[in-house]
Amino acid sequence: MPFSAERPVLIIGAGTGGLALAHGLRGAGIPVQVFERDRHRTGGLQGYRVGISPNGVRSLRACLPATLFDTFVATTARDYRAFTMCTERFAPLITFSSEHLMPTDDVIKDYSVSRMTLRQVLLSGLDDVVAFDKRFVRYDDHGDRVTAFFEDGSSVTGALLVGADGANSRIRKQYLPHATQTETGMIAIGGKQALTDEVRDMLPPGARNAMSMFFDTRGQLGILHPMEFPWRADRQLKDGIGDTDAELIRQWPGLLFDNTVDYVSWGVVVPRDLAPAGVLSMDGSQLQEVVVRDVMAGWHPTLLKLAEGSDPTTTFALGIRTSDPLDPWRPSRVTLLGDAIHTMTPGRGAGANTALRDAALIRDKLVEVRDAGADLLAAIGDYEQRMRTYSAVAVRESLEFMDDDGRARRPIIGPLSRFGMRTALRITDRVPPLKRRLAMTMQRVRDSELEPA
Ligand SMILES: Cc1cc2nc3c(=O)[nH]c(=O)nc-3n(C[C@H](O)[C@H](O)[C@H](O)COP(=O)(O)OP(=O)(O)OC[C@H]3O[C@@H](n4cnc5c(N)ncnc54)[C@H](O)[C@@H]3O)c2cc1C
Repeated sequence: MPFSAERPVLIIGAGTGGLALAHGLRGAGIPVQVFERDRHRTGGLQGYRVGISPNGVRSLRACLPATLFDTFVATTARDYRAFTMCTERFAPLITFSSEHLMPTDDVIKDYSVSRMTLRQVLLSGLDDVVAFDKRFVRYDDHGDRVTAFFEDGSSVTGALLVGADGANSRIRKQYLPHATQTETGMIAIGGKQALTDEVRDMLPPGARNAMSMFFDTRGQLGILHPMEFPWRADRQLKDGIGDTDAELIRQWPGLLFDNTVDYVSWGVVVPRDLAPAGVLSMDGSQLQEVVVRDVMAGWHPTLLKLAEGSDPTTTFALGIRTSDPLDPWRPSRVTLLGDAIHTMTPGRGAGANTALRDAALIRDKLVEVRDAGADLLAAIGDYEQRMRTYSAVAVRESLEFMDDDGRARRPIIGPLSRFGMRTALRITDRVPPLKRRLAMTMQRVRDSELEPA
């Protein structure tokens, strides 16, 4: 077997994909070490809402120990009861209720998680595997082994190096320097407002237990989602949590490190030519000011109040990038997963789910190497070929949903297409067969690239 305690699988990056893979390998008895640049387990303890799709859940279930998978389920936010598309004034265009949201079953369904709660779940049980304060700088591939070097001057040698180091991956830049990313021209700005009773009362009733998406008259897109967790701000569990979930959460070490409390997550996606100048270098308070004054000008007052009252340390702006198509490469002892190899827009909520699929697939391939004597490079080549195929679909469709082609703001065509879309959604809302069809299409499109192969 190519793996041993002296020659483990080396994973760079303790994010969604890297940690899922670490669990998968550890559970299969394959030696693994993870190296993360954050200095501590609590590093980067902010984060946005992430939707885990049914196939993302299947990948997690394949990788995590059973009790930890149950802890993942127990720590997700309360299920939302409706998904509404509205105007920027909160006038509903179409509302999908739980009957349209079509959960596959009680466990394999959509979950909303706080990105950092998910990270704390995934870090649980890996104390002897994850090393913090290890910033990767470069590697040497010796053919029969690979050595990773870190900024602190240390190095480590393993059988395989997995780059799970996110969208700015240093491993990708060394390994596939011709792999490029393109700015889509869209900027995402988001933040969080603590979900107090006062804030809950401020929300329109239809938005209290729903995910709401807004389409404004200038071609901007907004999103609002109240996230409620099973614990209160003092880390005590809320009433009404089932005994099993309560016990899982009490025993979960992540509760000590996670700083997530109930919040309303808001975001707006702005075409660059509408975005206030310098938006990408503003701090949280400045961002909130320009969002309220310029970006959301004319939007419903509740949305303005939410942006205005958010904790500025949670408010961020980022330019949305997408990976460009890439020709196949020859497999080696270096490979990549997740955003490191396929950065995609958040348009379809598929980035984390695709990273999880990569993790489950690499795990399966390495188990084949160990159990069936498969050749390591052939197994990696097989993973990469499949990953390139499904991730290309996810990248393309995510871009289609969130690309700035300027059409929405062209004279005549822009207003007409916005008017046409709103009218079509209002009509669809009133015609049950059309509405069911649209719900099915949205679910299929969202999860299709993740279907088990
Ligand atoms: C606003 C927003 C909303 C989103 N919503 C969704 C959603 O609803 N559903 C969904 O599926 N996806 C969503 N995504 C995408 C999702 O968050 C990412 O695709 C996913 O986190 C990628 O996981 P990853 O493991 O590849 O990388 P990451 O989770 O980014 O992990 C990379 C890790 O590598 C570490 N690292 C980086 N460089 C180094 C280095 N040199 N040395 C050591 N460590 C290093 C980083 O610190 C980090 O811990 C969203 C993204 C955004 C921006």
